[in-house]
Amino acid sequence: MSTDILKLTNHIGGSPREPSTKSYFDSIDPATNQVIAHVPASSAEDIDKAVQSAKSALDGEWGRFTSAMRADLCDAIAQGLEKRCAELAELESLDTGKPLSLAQRIDIPRAISNFRFFAGAGRHQHTGCHEMSDALNYTRREPLGVVGLITPWNLPLYLLSWKTAPALVTGNAIIAKPSELTPITASVLAEIITEVGGPPGCFNLVHGTGPDVGSPLVDHPDVGGISFTGGTQTGALVAQSASKHFKKLSLELGGKNPTIVFPDCDFDKAVEGAVRAAFTNQGQVCLCGSRIFIHETIYDDFTKAMVEKTKALTAGDPRNLNTKTGALISQQHLEKVASYVAIAKEEGGHIRIGGSRSSLDSPFDQGAFFEPTLIDNLPPSSRVSTEEIFGPVATLHPFKTEAEVVALANDVRYGLAASVWTTDLRRAHRVSALLDTGMVWVNTWLKRDLRVPFGGAKDSGMGREGGWNSLNFFTQEKNVCISFE
Ligand code: NDP
Repeated sequence: MSTDILKLTNHIGGSPREPSTKSYFDSIDPATNQVIAHVPASSAEDIDKAVQSAKSALDGEWGRFTSAMRADLCDAIAQGLEKRCAELAELESLDTGKPLSLAQRIDIPRAISNFRFFAGAGRHQHTGCHEMSDALNYTRREPLGVVGLITPWNLPLYLLSWKTAPALVTGNAIIAKPSELTPITASVLAEIITEVGGPPGCFNLVHGTGPDVGSPLVDHPDVGGISFTGGTQTGALVAQSASKHFKKLSLELGGKNPTIVFPDCDFDKAVEGAVRAAFTNQGQVCLCGSRIFIHETIYDDFTKAMVEKTKALTAGDPRNLNTKTGALISQQHLEKVASYVAIAKEEGGHIRIGGSRSSLDSPFDQGAFFEPTLIDNLPPSSRVSTEEIFGPVATLHPFKTEAEVVALANDVRYGLAASVWTTDLRRAHRVSALLDTGMVWVNTWLKRDLRVPFGGAKDSGMGREGGWNSLNFFTQEKNVCISFE
């Protein structure tokens, strides 16, 4: 694939396919506001074709793949991605506006390791056996069948691979619907799966918008499961629609994650961690720590140190390997982020650093760049401190006691992740147990082990991904009871 204007296709039954509407929309490089790709504006008709292709795959060659063959396929996909990792990182940076260095270091290597990990997990999957005096029960794990994977724009290939690998290794046939804003690397993945021997129809890709493509995918009666990652509001629509058909559903949704800094923390490490948690990928990671609670005795020093560290996060050409801060996903998203800064000012917030669009030379003056922003003097219950902004804006709040900070951290509708910074082991255990989140990091952030459960509490989602959780999600159990009598 070159980086001239690309014309993407759907990928159905192992071949590129035009959308039935014959129409396309533009995908924009958010760093320059230039068109980079024409994307199929598909419809429910294309989803139906993809479902028929997936069903044929399950009835045909793909359905006859053994678990060992499926694991080998995942390894081959990992290898195929690895061969094209430089190109994939460039395309991901172009499509999202994120720094190329980040795509090279995180997005693409993690996508590759997802396929490797689930190849291994598939090889080690086991099922239960329950003996009785006069019978034996054994439990089979069977694929759900046709599954829909719906993914957001912030980590496009990384999150798609996190769902595709376990769905394939357990023998499902996939219909993937990537975000309309970041469709490119999903197309490369589809090419690779076919090139390395994925049978036709095991992985179908349909581009288009949420209402035109995502919604009919969720609503299709022959799709047995939906794995969705995206915003909480969209997740609620998906849940409503999927429940009509009693579909298996996994929802990984939004977050407003606390970073909690105790006075006994390793100061420098905590400053570095809090800044990284606030601003990685321009604050566009569901796990970003955007509500930062700092003990009152170190509040002033910690805040000053964070401001100093944030100064180094200058925005620039995402393709320059020294650039630390890239563009936001779109002008529309930038306006949303800027509107929260305006609300913060109305609510009495004090902008400690940032707060405006970044000022850059052409062609990046047309891009969606926003300064990393730290705001304090806001009540923890303010809109800016409790609503998901999903951009480079974090609020700082002093606290006095452990009980107080736990209550403040839990006082949001979300419950995805938290990070706690302390050198007191007893406190680390105590606070971790009391936080209403699906994940807690202590003295670190975004450390990844692919075996652990990943997901959120409250409005941050339903179900868990990762390790056996993913393999269990994409399979259903069937018990067979054999009598000895
Ligand atoms: P959205 O909810 O807007 O979109 C997510 C996906 O759903 C996109 O592919 C979108 O398509 C599609 N979609 C939109 N409407 C529908 C519909 N009615 N039916 C089915 N699918 C639909 O999220 P964003 O893409 O804006 O991503 C940001 C959000 O994702 C944030 O809230 C973030 O916290 C969350 N997220 C959560 C993660 C987690 O693991 N918990 C990880 C990463 C992000 P289209 O792009 O065409 O609108």
